[in-house]
Amino acid sequence: MNEILTVEHISKAYGNKVALNDVSFRVHEGTIMGLLGPNGAGKTTLIRIINQIYIADSGKVYFNGKPISIDDVIRFGYLPEERGLYKKMKVGEQALYLSQLKGLSRKQALRELKYWFEKFEITSWWNKKVEELSKGMQQKVQFIISVLHKPSVLIFDEPFSGFDPINANLIKDELLAMKKNGVTIMLSTHNMASVEELCDEIVLINASKNVLSGDVKQIKQQFKEHIYEIVFKGFINYVDLANRHQYEILEHRQDNEHHIIKLRLLDTSIKTNTLIEALLSVGEITSFRELLPSMDEIFIKVVKQTNQEDK
Ligand code: ADP
Repeated sequence: MNEILTVEHISKAYGNKVALNDVSFRVHEGTIMGLLGPNGAGKTTLIRIINQIYIADSGKVYFNGKPISIDDVIRFGYLPEERGLYKKMKVGEQALYLSQLKGLSRKQALRELKYWFEKFEITSWWNKKVEELSKGMQQKVQFIISVLHKPSVLIFDEPFSGFDPINANLIKDELLAMKKNGVTIMLSTHNMASVEELCDEIVLINASKNVLSGDVKQIKQQFKEHIYEIVFKGFINYVDLANRHQYEILEHRQDNEHHIIKLRLLDTSIKTNTLIEALLSVGEITSFRELLPSMDEIFIKVVKQTNQEDK
């Protein structure tokens, strides 16, 4: 996969407050990359450095292997953290103006805006003043403006904050559709459910440092705890189940005629087939699956661990 954005050894301080400390990572073309981290970790600073709004104290950002330039950045779709629409201006007028700044002719901008306003069912907002719209409504308009010129790279700072679940889903679907068309997306978010649904790769920043990065599936494997969920139907021989040393039982639930057992392998060298074989005498197995940690669990674990190490 082509490396479209390369962030190398970026550091940045505001006075004596270090916001980024030697942060490096890569974003691959056509993927969705989640930039994660607690409040104040340095995500917005990093996004602003990539977008050339701020200059790093040291380190470099490359776009397609070359030092990133303002011309590259102008073509990106960018949704800033502060949603900066002019409050007194009318929605349509402002959308037209901002689209033309992105290089669209008035005619092209009108055509694209018509498409998106109809798609999002917001044509009635065209002549409203921005200040008449709620935060979420303004965000919807700003989302449209950021994607209108069909950028190949999108950088979104907290795209889901301020959205209700319906609109958040609408945006998620659009992002997935754009990814299908080869667009590369980088987004910062606190919403771990959206990371599970959208992101191929992540970078977790904590207290100004990159503390975890890479492919989401690989990271889940790296943090797995050898926990399995087995569903038995009908009667189970509990004595048989409990009388083993290869695992510990974490949970036992009963749901009508099903027993749902969660267990953790103590001897991780045991193969799943061996485990299944050992469980055959317990009862009739109707389902067996490994439970991988959620991104939420991984986030909390890594942040706590690195905070301890920094103490
Ligand atoms: P995040 O987006 O992860 O919440 P930020 O990049 O906004 O984090 O901030 C990183 C750190 O830098 C925080 O401690 C924040 O208080 C500080 N910071 C951000 N912007 C400024 C600024 N303009 N002046 C001084 N400190 C700042």
